[in-house]
Amino acid sequence: MISFFKKTILGLTKTRKNINKLFLALSGKTYLDVNDVEKMEELLLNADLGWELTEKIIEDLQLAADKETSLVDRFMNSILDLLKNMAPKGHLHSIILLVGVNGSGKTTSAAKLGGYFANKGEKVSLVAADTYRAAAVDQIQIWSKRLNLHLVSNEKSMDPASIAYDGVSSGISKERDRIIVDTSGRVHNSLNLMKELEKIYRVVYRLSSEIDVLMTIDANTGQNAIQQVREFSKIIPISGIILTKMDGTAKGGIALQIMKELNIHVYFIGVGEQVDDLVPFDKEEYLKALISKEKEVVDD
Ligand code: GDP
Repeated sequence: MISFFKKTILGLTKTRKNINKLFLALSGKTYLDVNDVEKMEELLLNADLGWELTEKIIEDLQLAADKETSLVDRFMNSILDLLKNMAPKGHLHSIILLVGVNGSGKTTSAAKLGGYFANKGEKVSLVAADTYRAAAVDQIQIWSKRLNLHLVSNEKSMDPASIAYDGVSSGISKERDRIIVDTSGRVHNSLNLMKELEKIYRVVYRLSSEIDVLMTIDANTGQNAIQQVREFSKIIPISGIILTKMDGTAKGGIALQIMKELNIHVYFIGVGEQVDDLVPFDKEEYLKALISKEKEVVDD
């Protein structure tokens, strides 16, 4: 089986390409001079690291103090230092609610997560509470059959809170190790839909407080991703992020920006459309993948 690290490397191909190009042009240098700053700034902003991180990294790379260390290593050390206080809050709870805007990869991620935990030997239930998109239930049915996961759905009900409640209670009574609830996609400026989400969380919480909310964010979303998380956080407590579609974007730096600006951990990254294209996020492996040379990728 292909390792998570190799999957991370492959998933970050587009983001890495530009970063590698610049570091290659700067090879031999151990710090940035004024002529290099503009190029580095453009690169980091284009990769969606955001202004704050970009400025701090460039400040670090301009310091002439550490002349023995290569620029690439200094780049990595600078980011690790900026994120040194970021760590996942621990293991995810047994009930996971997936939320996010339409098309961000919620349903796919619910299935992928189910597969991920089942691979670890857990008994998993999927709950299909996306009542607005008939195709979502079909989609999750196909995935759950393929992965041999227990699925709770109710095509007769249009009330997502009641489906979530029934699905989670069924999972609890069947003593499932993990219960993953797929909710409908919503836009944060639709008050009714957001209220409904709050209700889903509330009714599930009534059954058990062992609950985490993961928000799917499409890595192509750009700066709006930060706003999406902020708006959803006003309604329900977001425990962490699944950053999807990293394979299709050169803007994979958004993972760092989300963690730094919002202090919310990225738990997984989606690196493709297949069920095993979900990788637990590890900031050191992610950074290594960002700066690894193409040759190392092939030889790995
Ligand atoms: P939802 O509306 O949030 O439930 O989104 P879906 O799970 O239906 O996903 C929307 C589209 O994105 C589908 O075509 C998925 O196959 C695709 N998708 C989801 N995650 C990834 C990913 O990590 N990489 C790629 N390339 N496509 C993804």
